Amino acid sequence: MTQHIPVVENILNANDRLAQANRARIEAAGVFSINILASPGAGKTSLIEKTLPLLKGKLRVAAIDGDIATSIDSDRAAAAGAGAAVQINTGGTCHLDAVMLNGALEQLDLTQFDLLIVENVGNLICPANFKLGTHKTVLVASIPEGDDKPYKYPGTYRGVDVLIINKIDLLPYVDFRMDYFTQGVQALNPGIVTFPMSCRTGEGVDAWVDWLVGNVHR
Ligand code: MG
Ligand code: ZN
Repeated sequence: MTQHIPVVENILNANDRLAQANRARIEAAGVFSINILASPGAGKTSLIEKTLPLLKGKLRVAAIDGDIATSIDSDRAAAAGAGAAVQINTGGTCHLDAVMLNGALEQLDLTQFDLLIVENVGNLICPANFKLGTHKTVLVASIPEGDDKPYKYPGTYRGVDVLIINKIDLLPYVDFRMDYFTQGVQALNPGIVTFPMSCRTGEGVDAWVDWLVGNVHR
């Protein structure tokens, strides 16, 4: 008798098993880890750049940056003060998966760090489907993207642990209905931890940094 298992399901199961192995490895080193998702240009790297100087002397941070082709993001993370920055070039793939993270972890001595920041490829669709093994998934939304994103990408908004609403300094210049956006978010992910901020002005960044420090020292 032939058993038919959908290929996609198989791939995701294999991914999840390796994600568990990644988690075990991260936890064995006593590290707290986050996976940052966003559409291109929402401010993932800017968030890391703004965050790292505020963690100086408090947490030792390693950054892993996923990108389709360049090492611009890991260069920026290193320049901002990451103790180690590893670039994953996905070779065109539009998301990170547990295999890629596993390879990047091989290049780090995790015991030297308190916090691991993984910057996923900019894409609101498939990164949410591939667990990496990190503790928390952080979604960066931004005002210029528009207030309809929770409605258009429910899978991503539903599956994340933390929501950052970036570029709030642009609210006076953009037709962004915060109540409409928030309604969509709450329908999918009630009570989600949310940090409105501007990585440009620095407004709201402190609360986020406190959240990170609190999670590391839990
Ligand atoms: Mg980036
Ligand atoms: Zn993808």
